[in-house]
Amino acid sequence: MKNKNKENEKNKNEKMNNEKICHDEKCPFHGTLSVRGRYFQGIVKKIFGKRAVVEFERFIYYKKYERYAKARTRLHAYIPSCLDIAIGNIVKVGECRRLSKIMHFVVLKKIK
Ligand SMILES: [Zn+2]
Repeated sequence: MKNKNKENEKNKNEKMNNEKICHDEKCPFHGTLSVRGRYFQGIVKKIFGKRAVVEFERFIYYKKYERYAKARTRLHAYIPSCLDIAIGNIVKVGECRRLSKIMHFVVLKKIK
């Protein structure tokens, strides 16, 4: 039985096109985490272990002054163990369930 399980794992790993082996439960691709809701693109500003601070700019409209202004939003996103993210990367994040007090986003893709 043990050998069979090993073979199955091997086949699984080969199917993932030589990607890193990922046993992360909070991974949106290999785990059970479902991504739904809002999606954003931003720059990684800081990394604390498995948490990244992602910043992006958006335009907001002030009705009183009839003008647009730039606003920056920072949010915290979880980094799955199969993704290689460094500070300065442009990433895509998606909304998921609340992973901790401040994390309810997960990094989905490295764009640059
Ligand atoms: Zn994964």
